[in-house]
Amino acid sequence: MDFQLLKDSVYSTPAFVVDEIEVTRTLAVLTELKNQCGCKVLYSIKALPFSAVMEMAKPWVDGFSVSSLFEARLADEVLAGQGSIHLTTPGIRPDELDELSSLCSHISFNSLPQYQRYAETAGAQSSIGLRVNPKLSFLHDQRFDPCRQHSKLGVAIDELSRSICLDQIQGLHIHNVFSATDFTPLIETIDMLQQYLGIGLAELEWLNIGGGYLLGQIEDHRPFVELVNKLKQDYAIEVYIEPGKAVVGQAGHLVATVLDSFVSDGVTVIILDTSVNHNPEVFEYQRQPELHEHDPDGQYTAILAGCTCLAGDVFGQYRFKKPLEVGDKVVFKHVGAYTLIKANRFNGYNLPDIYLSNSLRVKKLKHYDYQDYRRQWVVEVRGEEQL
Ligand SMILES: *Cc1c(COP(=O)(O)O)cnc(C)c1O
Repeated sequence: MDFQLLKDSVYSTPAFVVDEIEVTRTLAVLTELKNQCGCKVLYSIKALPFSAVMEMAKPWVDGFSVSSLFEARLADEVLAGQGSIHLTTPGIRPDELDELSSLCSHISFNSLPQYQRYAETAGAQSSIGLRVNPKLSFLHDQRFDPCRQHSKLGVAIDELSRSICLDQIQGLHIHNVFSATDFTPLIETIDMLQQYLGIGLAELEWLNIGGGYLLGQIEDHRPFVELVNKLKQDYAIEVYIEPGKAVVGQAGHLVATVLDSFVSDGVTVIILDTSVNHNPEVFEYQRQPELHEHDPDGQYTAILAGCTCLAGDVFGQYRFKKPLEVGDKVVFKHVGAYTLIKANRFNGYNLPDIYLSNSLRVKKLKHYDYQDYRRQWVVEVRGEEQL
């Protein structure tokens, strides 16, 4: 990506730019994986449920994975029957079950009570599975460890092996890592599954091994290919993966403009026309996003801050070759996943415009305006109408 060209082409900020070339590059890597081991690939749309991205992914993937009714509806609208839709969520509502099972080809129940309550009804239309908690933690931050103590995600593997005969279900679902850059967790997880369930796995039709692996950034795919081939050989099952961040993480960039610059306690503070509300994980997890203009050897230091009233609305401290000036643009790179979907209009600041960048051009696809904000917050009372 030529970031200078990108800055010259984006004519309104804040802007979230989807890099189509990068999405396609990752999808090609996933397709290569599919060819090597016959795994099935779903795009986990929660990372960025933007229809343009879903349309880009559609020809390459076997379907989408979703976590709610709205995601299932959107997945169905884009797929139009051309692929499978896998659902797992702790939050299945009784009033949504019928529609969920008509939309989703596969449903993995999150707990045994959820399974007992809904499997019979859902099983008439969907292939039924269970989400397993393999009780193997690979993440040091509990806030995103599905295998933490008292986890709410999945049936504990020991409990599952005690309470369920695998011929009662068609599949199992596991998801226990985030942003993993090698396959060690997967190998250990499958090992655990085999220890507990053994040849019982052959009763299943499918195994969904979740997302969480940055497949586009892992050089050596051989351990994965070997593992999947072995699973298919030993148990004659379909193996699904459902990456989210791997598909879009590198492929989204946030472009902002400098609105103000001043010195606070001896350090330059730059106010941008974006904020952590356009990238909430910066605040939630205190992560500092990559900045294109940052130069580790630069002699100028500045704190890049958002434009809202929250004191901690700060992206971090960066170094620059020359001082940033009002009107300059900056780019937070590789913030494609879990950014726009979590963005909000706190303080009344608008959501970013959405652009698409491909080999031909940079094009604006979406702009929100005051009417969108107003529709969310204004109660229209007409005449005598009562709420
Ligand atoms: C979030 C999630 C994914 C996608 O995770 P990434 O880290 O974005 O690859 C896949 N499956 C489940 C069950 C998830 O909760």
